[in-house]
Amino acid sequence: MSTIHLAGFPRIGAKRELKFLVEKFWKNEIDDAALQAGARELRQKHWLLQKGAGLDISPVGDFSLYDHVLDAQVLVGAIPRRFGFDAAKLSSAQYFQLARGNSSQHAIEMTKWFDSNYHYLVPEWHADTAFAANPAPLLAQIAEAQALGIKSKPVLIGPLTLLWLGKCKGAAFDRLSLLPALLQTYQDLLAALNAAKVDWVQLDEPILALDLPAEWLAAFAPAYAELAASPLQLLLATYFGSVAPHAELLKALPVAGLHLDLVRAPQQLAAFVQGWPQDKVLSAGVIDGRNIWRADLDAVLQQAEALHVQLGERLWLAPSCSLLHSPFDLAQEGQLDVDLKSWLAFAVQKLNELKLLKRGLQQGRASIENELAASNYAREQRRSSPRIHRAEVAQRLAALPAGSDRRASPFAQRAPLQHAWLKLPLLPTTTIGSFPQTSEIRAARAAFKRGELDAASYEAAMKAEIELVIRKQEQLDIDVLVHGEAERNDMVEYFGEQLAGFAFTEYGWVQSYGSRCVKPPVIYGDVARPTPMTVRWAVYAQSLSPRPVKGMLTGPVTILQWSFVRNDLPRSAVCRQIALAINDEVLDLENAGIKVIQIDEPAVREGLPLKRGDWDAYLAWAGEAFRLSCAGVDDSTQIHTHMCYSEFGDILPAIAALDADVITIETSRSDMELLRDFGSFQYPNEIGPGVYDIHSPRIPTEAELDKLLAKALQVIPAERLWVNPDCGLKTRGWPETEAALQAMVNVTKRLRAKL
Ligand code: GLN
Ligand code: ZN
Repeated sequence: MSTIHLAGFPRIGAKRELKFLVEKFWKNEIDDAALQAGARELRQKHWLLQKGAGLDISPVGDFSLYDHVLDAQVLVGAIPRRFGFDAAKLSSAQYFQLARGNSSQHAIEMTKWFDSNYHYLVPEWHADTAFAANPAPLLAQIAEAQALGIKSKPVLIGPLTLLWLGKCKGAAFDRLSLLPALLQTYQDLLAALNAAKVDWVQLDEPILALDLPAEWLAAFAPAYAELAASPLQLLLATYFGSVAPHAELLKALPVAGLHLDLVRAPQQLAAFVQGWPQDKVLSAGVIDGRNIWRADLDAVLQQAEALHVQLGERLWLAPSCSLLHSPFDLAQEGQLDVDLKSWLAFAVQKLNELKLLKRGLQQGRASIENELAASNYAREQRRSSPRIHRAEVAQRLAALPAGSDRRASPFAQRAPLQHAWLKLPLLPTTTIGSFPQTSEIRAARAAFKRGELDAASYEAAMKAEIELVIRKQEQLDIDVLVHGEAERNDMVEYFGEQLAGFAFTEYGWVQSYGSRCVKPPVIYGDVARPTPMTVRWAVYAQSLSPRPVKGMLTGPVTILQWSFVRNDLPRSAVCRQIALAINDEVLDLENAGIKVIQIDEPAVREGLPLKRGDWDAYLAWAGEAFRLSCAGVDDSTQIHTHMCYSEFGDILPAIAALDADVITIETSRSDMELLRDFGSFQYPNEIGPGVYDIHSPRIPTEAELDKLLAKALQVIPAERLWVNPDCGLKTRGWPETEAALQAMVNVTKRLRAKL
């Protein structure tokens, strides 16, 4: 009968046990033995959960103490050589030094895992990188699983994806040149796994969902022909997008099975079922591994039934991708609205959905009649729930006149109107929004949330903080002030908590990197803003100073990107709804006299689709949403935006099309190199390139700042140049913040005098 399996399971644990375990080890509160024992216990718990759900075969090697891409580097014996460690004899302490840096080496660079919010550690390849199989840790885990009576399927990152994910160091070379040596090591690994008596090995090649250069695509057939020499059955796993363009290549690969993501790319199935080889397993990823909605069991079963007719035993069922991206267990949520809860499925619930699908296939629909009815009921109820649908939101969107997302006049006309009342000096100084979030602020916020601090005392504490921040900025002689964001825990959660259509879980954590987890809000219904969210703080801050204070909001694309988004509307539609809610706030701020308003959009770039062909459509709706969020403001109101990573390259036209009056960006770590693109593209509006890196406590010297600003002035005319740090200051302490800002202001003043 058909097999149910998983590409991977969340390793963090139901209550983030892994986080607390490794953090204890970092603080020397537990030793290595206790760390290993804790990790083993978690793995065992997770396998037993899977066994309980009737999984036929469980992933092994999906667990990691920090990151599975780092583990893959250890497995092939190619950890960054600058550390001087021996991969085969790596201690836990050394493993974490690779991930977090040590006194002589900075940490391995981290970047986003495809289009997810998970971050992996980037392999460092040299032209002469050598590999050596180091299977012992994986073999130990296989033994653990086998001891529990679990049939295990080791999961490895495929050789091509592993190479692709790495960065070349040293003299330029093509990382594909490392493939022959790497394949030799994979063969050694497979031999070791074969000796461990496993039948199946999963090789993840998610790069197949990208636009791959021809030479990379061409490398697949010969590479897998070499690996196929192993007697093991290989399951090639793809996910996060369609691999239909490579259907013929994939059908012909000498592997025993292929996994497809049928949630992200359901239409790709057609390209594979046609002429699907008689001897291959097709693993259908039909349960959403990236989102939290309950499956439409009836529809999925129907699809599985049809596939089963054709494939029989050769049909496997699974979530679309590893459940690493899904929160752990919905059953832990005690405070969620019961209706909403009945529409959701976290990892544990997804296991159960798989189990039901299998039973439905095996014993017929009648055997899961009740569960199908419950699933249908939830679907119907969700479809018609008044909690989700707000007629006025749809009406308002439908009634938007064409061009609502345009400012009344072009920038060239707005700018003089803004300058006239702002009366700012050349090279105006500002900051990105947040000021140090001291432990007192955090404690006050937490106490207020728990109901231990009454509203009046909380209000007073926040106002005192705002006053402090305003006075400090005045003393530093900064030109455009901020209120400091003391009342905000997180730039998305803060708004989500005040918007209709959003819900928050208690334990819906997802690993972001290492021990860091995020708990994204759930956008389940039409979004609206019942009451002003930031106006009273902004107005209070402005009342304290004659200098302009920026209103500070998070933009619609970023709110969307960092949430779990409803799947019954296109993301673009949800984004427009958020845009209108933010627009309400923008107009209220403006009415209240706040006429410099910053709408942060750090997530625009990371929202880019995996395939270039989809970029334009995304950039069009994302840009429209941003512009809609500032629709209707007066020409004299100055709209700012902020983005953290400014490696915009070929999307610069889309960034310019946002038409923010001022954009502040992160550039200092690249020595202003990134600003060059803005110069050569002739970016038309005002720009504040970050002049120092806020990610470290280091105070920049005035000489450094001087040099960076001189570089910036070569590219951007002084009339359009602002001076500011790279990003918000909330993770910094006050002493370094004041010193750094003082240096920034001093250098700016000296420079102004020379202009
Ligand atoms: N205004 C936010 C802050 O200053 C921006 C944060 C961000 O760019 N991620 O903290
Ligand atoms: Zn930022």
